[in-house]
Amino acid sequence: MKQTNYDIAVIGAGIIGLATAMQLTDKYPSYRVIVLDKEKSTAKHQTGHNSGVIHAGIYYKPGSAKASFCYTGNKELRQFCDNNNVPYKMCGKLVIAIKDSEIPMLEELYKRGTANGVEGLQMIGKEELREKEPNAAGIKAIWSPNTGIIDYKKVATAYADIFKNNGGELLLDSKVISLSQSPENVFIETEKDTITAKHIINCAGLHADRIAGLMGLDTGIRIVPFRGEYYSVDKTRGNLINGLIYPVPDPAMPFLGVHFTTRIDGSVEAGPNAVLAFAREGYSKLSFNLNDVLNTVSFPGFWKMSVKHLRTGLSEQYRSLNKNLFLKSLQYLVPDIHMSDLIAPGAGVRAQAVDRGGNLLQDFSIIEQKNAIHVLSAPSPGATSSFTIGKHIVALAQKNFEL
Ligand SMILES: Cc1cc2nc3c(=O)[nH]c(=O)nc-3n(C[C@H](O)[C@H](O)[C@H](O)COP(=O)(O)OP(=O)(O)OC[C@H]3O[C@@H](n4cnc5c(N)ncnc54)[C@H](O)[C@@H]3O)c2cc1C
Repeated sequence: MKQTNYDIAVIGAGIIGLATAMQLTDKYPSYRVIVLDKEKSTAKHQTGHNSGVIHAGIYYKPGSAKASFCYTGNKELRQFCDNNNVPYKMCGKLVIAIKDSEIPMLEELYKRGTANGVEGLQMIGKEELREKEPNAAGIKAIWSPNTGIIDYKKVATAYADIFKNNGGELLLDSKVISLSQSPENVFIETEKDTITAKHIINCAGLHADRIAGLMGLDTGIRIVPFRGEYYSVDKTRGNLINGLIYPVPDPAMPFLGVHFTTRIDGSVEAGPNAVLAFAREGYSKLSFNLNDVLNTVSFPGFWKMSVKHLRTGLSEQYRSLNKNLFLKSLQYLVPDIHMSDLIAPGAGVRAQAVDRGGNLLQDFSIIEQKNAIHVLSAPSPGATSSFTIGKHIVALAQKNFEL
């Protein structure tokens, strides 16, 4: 580290922190900007453990931040990738109704997507569905040609490279453990150094509520970690799926339901589910972090959420422990998938923000202070929207930090 005084410190080298830092240094080349992360490499958490889908913006409530950031994000992300040689593929996606009872929700999704401006959406019947995905079940589907696949680690690396070329500093292996403030500065204590910055931008993902708390902010929101477990589909059976196959989701939940995802490297994944995790970065069923668990159970909103979603929560936990049930959910969409096809389990952990009333925050949440901006909640489609969220944060920084 060359210096300890900065204009702006971004906490978190995930895709949102890096998109923000890159655009800050693009727009304000003379400002000294540092990105801090506790890990030894970038994109170690949500950014490096997601489904790799470029969402089109179908699901989100019209008028919400998710709807507008995803719609614009899809285009701006692809423009960035075209300009910087990051590969992606617009393979399209199907959201499939298997039973008659799912059709009203499918139609509601179609209306939402259309209201959100998503281009090319089509409601298709059985025959067209089979033409696109011969092995999928279902009676009706939404076809979304503007959905694609990408490796978000590569996007994060490209953001980081431009940020560094612009003169920004990336300080890894530096966990922020305390923050204190004077009228002019924020003092950022890491496990190794103390860094001074005039302003901070909190993009700490699964720990964003903790960083906000270190700034003395009572947001009334707690991050509750939900593990998303998936299996890889055996290579020899990957041809069962051509692109992306999703079920009609439960409208009460922010998760999309177990689905089939073709990855940009050609492999296919099945999942993820959404089970309560006992560690914010707990990637295995046995992961346990006492501090994280106490932090969750001491929050009244957690108990209210548990009561509200008891049935769904218990059935997700049960399915997580019972691979047969996981397989059944997959066979619901693709009947010909077998137990022997499901290999190499993996997982990601979602940062789900919950409020004091036990409500699962559905939308993005960005909170402004005079000397700080906190990205408190940036769940899916956060990676799709990363460029656009970064641009939005730079605009907030310009206003709040008087850049
Ligand atoms: C299972 C799963 C599937 C998903 N699928 C998709 C998808 O297909 N498409 C899509 O658009 N989105 C998807 N998402 C959402 C997407 O991954 C996130 O919206 C996005 O990665 C959020 O990025 P981030 O930078 O906010 O968080 P992160 O990537 O989690 O980055 C936060 C960073 O902060 C650092 N940090 C935390 N605390 C500290 C500290 N005290 N000091 C220093 N550093 C700290 C962490 O080490 C981490 O690197 C998915 C997410 C999950 C979990």
